[in-house]
Amino acid sequence: MKVVERVAELRERCESARRSGARVGLVPTMGYFHDGHRSLMHAARGRDDLVVVTLFVNPTQFGPNEDLSAYPRDLDADVAAATAAGVDVLFTPSVEEMYPGGPPRTTVHVAELTEGMCGAARPTHFDGVTTVVAKLFSVVGPSRAYFGRKDYQQLAVVRRMAQDLNLPVEVIGCPLVREPDGLAMSSRNAYLTADERAVAPALFAALVDAVDVVRAGERDARAVECVVHDAVARRPQFALEYVELRDATSLEPRTRVDGEVVLAVAGRIGRARLIDNVVIQVADGRVDADLGVKVGAEEVLDA
Ligand code: AMP
Repeated sequence: MKVVERVAELRERCESARRSGARVGLVPTMGYFHDGHRSLMHAARGRDDLVVVTLFVNPTQFGPNEDLSAYPRDLDADVAAATAAGVDVLFTPSVEEMYPGGPPRTTVHVAELTEGMCGAARPTHFDGVTTVVAKLFSVVGPSRAYFGRKDYQQLAVVRRMAQDLNLPVEVIGCPLVREPDGLAMSSRNAYLTADERAVAPALFAALVDAVDVVRAGERDARAVECVVHDAVARRPQFALEYVELRDATSLEPRTRVDGEVVLAVAGRIGRARLIDNVVIQVADGRVDADLGVKVGAEEVLDA
């Protein structure tokens, strides 16, 4: 695996691969790799000729009072993990390399899908994400780009950006990977104390309770959100930020559970801000839920 720090070198490697007929797969990340990241790398390795993983803790997607300086980093471990996953190129630019002219004067804004949910507490976050992802698409020229369903709103926003701007890249959503006790894997889980870590799976448990209520016949979106709200409220360690049931593609708010919807939740516990979601499909009275996959398990949870 080649570690590349310069935009020009990354562009040249990707261009030369494409000239010889290779298809390039891109996995954008902020590093501190866990099995969620590994699953994206494996998905790309299984389909693409040149697998490029980018590791960049992008300052423009952090708000002024967020955890940019504290964000966990371990480059040596990440190089080892990406090598083991069969990655071809790991791109680790500096902030100056990515933004040589200082903060960008040109940004990509996806309207509506960025409003509410995580966009409410993090009003500048998604513009930072879409702008850096557009830059990476421009440099790498991937045929496919892989994103986790853990960051569900991000995936929907990036998909919409690619559609609206006719970007020649297939945006692929990969399953949400969980710890054995259900906690969604996240680099930010490193912030949790032992006590907080013990309580954190309550977020997933609350989503499972909500799915059970839908299976039992509940179709009122507010009632389903209340199940999550009440379950999390029983844990005083959690400061719930939002619970929202929305259309799975457009992210428009829904009053009824029908078709394909996403039930998404965010909350703070200690220093960590945790997010989680389940996708629920209701068709002809049948309820299917995508709860993600547990690490090490072959089977998709309850699909
Ligand atoms: P991050 O490094 O946290 O910015 O994440 C980089 C990519 O990995 C994003 O597409 C995330 O959605 C994805 N990812 C992070 N955690 C998980 C997870 N637990 N399961 C699946 N994908 C994930």
